[in-house]
Amino acid sequence: MKNTVIYDYEEVEDEINEIIKKSASNTYHFIEIENNWKTECDLSIRHYSIGSGMKHIVFLATFHGAEIISTEFLLYIMNYIVENEKEFLEILKEYTLNFIPIVNPEGYIITTSAIRTQIPRNMEALDIEKICSKYLRLYKEDDDKVINGEITDNTELKNYQSMFKKSTYQDIPDKYKRVKKKIEEMYQKYKIPNGAIIAWCANANGIDLNANTKYNRNISKIENGEELYMPLRYSNIRFSEPGPINCPYDKNKGFLQEKETVFISEFLEELYNSNKLSAIFNYHSTGGLIDQRPSELEDDLKDRNINLKHKTLNNYMFAKFYQSETYKNLNNKDEKYDILKDSSVIKTLNGLYRVLYPLDMLVELSELGGNPIGPYSNIDNYNSIMKSNLEAIKKSISYLKLSNKVSDIIYNYIEQNQDELNDEEFINRGYEFIDKIYEKIEEYLPRVEDAEKIIEQIKKIIENT
Ligand SMILES: [Zn+2]
Repeated sequence: MKNTVIYDYEEVEDEINEIIKKSASNTYHFIEIENNWKTECDLSIRHYSIGSGMKHIVFLATFHGAEIISTEFLLYIMNYIVENEKEFLEILKEYTLNFIPIVNPEGYIITTSAIRTQIPRNMEALDIEKICSKYLRLYKEDDDKVINGEITDNTELKNYQSMFKKSTYQDIPDKYKRVKKKIEEMYQKYKIPNGAIIAWCANANGIDLNANTKYNRNISKIENGEELYMPLRYSNIRFSEPGPINCPYDKNKGFLQEKETVFISEFLEELYNSNKLSAIFNYHSTGGLIDQRPSELEDDLKDRNINLKHKTLNNYMFAKFYQSETYKNLNNKDEKYDILKDSSVIKTLNGLYRVLYPLDMLVELSELGGNPIGPYSNIDNYNSIMKSNLEAIKKSISYLKLSNKVSDIIYNYIEQNQDELNDEEFINRGYEFIDKIYEKIEEYLPRVEDAEKIIEQIKKIIENT
């Protein structure tokens, strides 16, 4: 891997080609899956797999174009697997790992074209840190201004945007002329603040792929003609029309699923229907947290026989294994990623996946905010994020079956013994059990190789609780 951070689109392609080449002499090789997934601007959504297992695990990154750290993270994992194959032999025998490092190539190109106006290839890490720290500082100040009520109208340019105020669609290389043309048209048609292109989460249609689900509650508001603005540092961006972030669909065309979301959804559905899907890891960039709870069930999904309580306990337990290896900050390894526990309605595509499919976590990688470059304001911290999440993946996959077994036992125990609980109380009771039992599991893991023995212990603990 190259020494500096911040990959543009071509560098991502080169890096992946290198990884594939390197893996050729290993027991397990990375292969590119021929999928013919093309975006409207004719860019490929590339999909790589490794391993021989019947069961599949899917890694997704950069639904949001501006969340480039998530793509770099998947490259890091792919490269690590190739260079440290021994550590992964068991996992690769048991599972097939699927990597889709850029779900949204158009958005990735748009954002990184803006980044490259100030951070050229091969810039020294210290210089990158300086620019990114300034960006993050301004971004936070912009948040504070909104929080403190200092912003009265939503046309004012944000300070972090002003750092990139000269960046426009013109910075997109001619090689991507369809992307460039579409963004140019969007600038002419809609109100896009100067510099907002730096955090371009949407695709070249100006549609946010993660918001692009029919269950998104904002759709009916947009249909009713409401003008919707983003909160905080994005408060000068309107998302009721196509643009950089959060617009679920183009009102003039009616609700359409974007090609990118169709491909990913069909792929997951096919794996699920053939009983091959074990888990989904979906990477986003800022927050330092794990979103695991499946949302409330929509009426038209009721015939899918989804047991939300059971699914939530499975997911939560899995998230605990993952969480145990994470830390937000290099200097304080005790502060783990937060796990979100509250119920919600389906707002995003990933929220929908969590309802439909087995084990699914959305991980916000960096505690630092400031898409796309805020996470690079401290490169040591950036590197430790990569490492800790690598360990989290290894651990959660290694104990995936145990995690499911233990959470099944907890679910069944509550189901049989505590039938007076409503759904919310049931889930909260499950969370409590899992928290308690997870501590015990940590004690047993180093000593007991035999999962059955751990499970016997767990049963005893539950019965005595
Ligand atoms: Zn995101």
